[in-house]
Amino acid sequence: MSTYPLSLNVTGKRVIVVGAGTVAARRIPGLVHAGAHVIVVADSVHDEIRALAEAGRITLLERRYAEGDLVGAWLVHSATGDPDVDALVADHAFEERVWCVRADDAAASEAWTPAVARVDEITVSVTSDADPRRAMAIRDAVRDQLLEGRLPIRRRRPSSGAVVLIGGGPGDPDLITVRGRRELARADVVIYDRLAPTQLLAELDADVELIDAGKSPSQHTLTQDEINALLVERAGNGLRVVRLKGGDPFVFGRGSEEVQACVAAGIPVEVVPGISSATAAPASAGIPVTHRGLSTGYAVITGHELRDLDALARLDLTLVVLMGVATMPDLVDGLMAAGRDRDTPVAIIERASTVDQRITVGTLATIAASAAQAGVANPAVIVVGDVVSVPQLLSAHTDRIEVPA
Ligand code: SAH
Repeated sequence: MSTYPLSLNVTGKRVIVVGAGTVAARRIPGLVHAGAHVIVVADSVHDEIRALAEAGRITLLERRYAEGDLVGAWLVHSATGDPDVDALVADHAFEERVWCVRADDAAASEAWTPAVARVDEITVSVTSDADPRRAMAIRDAVRDQLLEGRLPIRRRRPSSGAVVLIGGGPGDPDLITVRGRRELARADVVIYDRLAPTQLLAELDADVELIDAGKSPSQHTLTQDEINALLVERAGNGLRVVRLKGGDPFVFGRGSEEVQACVAAGIPVEVVPGISSATAAPASAGIPVTHRGLSTGYAVITGHELRDLDALARLDLTLVVLMGVATMPDLVDGLMAAGRDRDTPVAIIERASTVDQRITVGTLATIAASAAQAGVANPAVIVVGDVVSVPQLLSAHTDRIEVPA
């Protein structure tokens, strides 16, 4: 059979649903959502449909279907559970020239509802002759791929600009969130950091503008003000701008300053959280930041400003230090001076979650010398606390340097 697919604007238009059982209960919410004026005619009514009527979202006529009910309707669904009634409704609809979807007999129907998914203003609508489950399976597969950014979801027509800050995770392209990946696939412009999962950029269209923010500690390709200005300027031109960052955007990422700059300029901005290296680096090394009996919590600090080490040493927390390679001697000296045991285990995890991950372990007393000897470099996360000695599975591609105390 050849058919003609179509999408209908039913807003404010009269749609009659005859029957109010489970099939009708599945159909009605979609019609209500599309803004149809839904009139349900049925003598026995499913609780969900009654609730919609009580909430004023549909009109319920609690009686048997009668000739004349279809007058003035644009569309009819017949799902009474009684083939004779469904056939009668279909006959009346044919006479009135109203399209009728028959639930009882797809082959006898004049119209069919597809399996539908909506993702980011895209409607996926699948029909399969006489096999609705097959249609649903395909709909689900396409929807999932759209959600994961695996299909070309990017807009081809300019519309309103926006900025999306994405936390890309610690570096492994598998450790970005599903939403982060989808938002990346929607980008017209990507401003990315060195520690972001840059391998994902290879999948983007050739005409997506890629800007390296190059925020290495030594060589600032772009200042923060320049990045903020770029975000606002590109989005102001109607482009969808992604700010792809390592870890989580709000953990030492200056993401909040970028949000403030967008808000000040009236640019719509959203934040997609990411997996921070503060927890991902220890986890990738098999080190739990908390462990019953060993550590009841953890503190994340930056090595750029080693403040209040006395107070930190007194708290019985796992200490996680980001950007701490250069100041590590000050860190360990400060903690020991504040009374932390010299034998407290310490681990340094470099390039966590990547194939080059390396772990160096020691104690507060030994780690500075070991790190110097091993040539430890950024990016690295330092973990101080008894949890470092908890044996965990280590990934195969990890060198673990054990230094005897
Ligand atoms: N927003 C990021 C942190 C940015 S500050 C996050 O949430 O992870 C940059 C610091 O993060 C680096 O100096 C290093 O200490 C740490 N870092 C980021 N990625 C890392 C990785 N893959 N391995 C080890 N440390 C990492």
